[in-house]
Amino acid sequence: MPRATPTPLVRAPRDRPRRPDPGRPPSPATVREIHRRLARALGPLDPPLRRDPIEELILTVLSQNTSDVNRDRAFAAMRARFPTWESLADAGPHELAAAIKPGGLSNIKAPRILAILEEIAARQDGSLDLRWMRDAPSDRVLGYLVSLPGVGPKTAACVLAFSLGRPALPVDTHVHRVARRLGFYDERTDAVRAHQLMELAVPASMRITMHVGLIRLGRLICKPARPLCEDCPLQDLCPTAPSVLGAVASEGARDARTGRRAGP
Ligand code: SF4
Repeated sequence: MPRATPTPLVRAPRDRPRRPDPGRPPSPATVREIHRRLARALGPLDPPLRRDPIEELILTVLSQNTSDVNRDRAFAAMRARFPTWESLADAGPHELAAAIKPGGLSNIKAPRILAILEEIAARQDGSLDLRWMRDAPSDRVLGYLVSLPGVGPKTAACVLAFSLGRPALPVDTHVHRVARRLGFYDERTDAVRAHQLMELAVPASMRITMHVGLIRLGRLICKPARPLCEDCPLQDLCPTAPSVLGAVASEGARDARTGRRAGP
């Protein structure tokens, strides 16, 4: 009787960190390597101080379109003028706008904060206490927060991550830009989908620190107008780097031909 031919042992290809092909997101090994390099180059990526959920919620509204320094100044001025959440909820919009002026866009943020507080009080028999969120499942907290007026997925993810320590990855303007350049999604991806894709791609244990690392990279290196790919620790993993570095090289060659020097 003929012997059966042994089935050759086929090993699955090992996932190694590499630049993703165009239109493909980074592989799991590449995501882990991005996280490792961000921590090494820009870490430690400790999350900010944990706050009460209502405090984190209002702070995140104040952080829109401003620096951390101005946000903190606006928050401190607001708390000095309205020391309790109840007194803040009773404030008039002009009075609140005057208190949070250092944070910018105060005429937009003041009515937004008051509308959020009004809605919370209406849902919770007048209470503004959100500490029940500490024991609630993340899905329930997320659903509650995004149904408040003017609260989107980024603000909700900030409360989940920084107040409750849940594995969320807030996609702010820096994270959105850097993640898009790294190939996590394309330019047509909106904020809601960006949150979903990032949470699918990034393991739970890395989400908060990945958020901090991508923000730092976005502020220091992967800048909005012109990313400094030549200084970036993720250069060999990034699908955007070749075109940026190619443009820089051609510019340098053209300047050399015309005798122009970069800088004074
Ligand atoms: S290589 Fe360039 S485009 Fe890519 S993340 Fe770094 S700075 Fe941004």
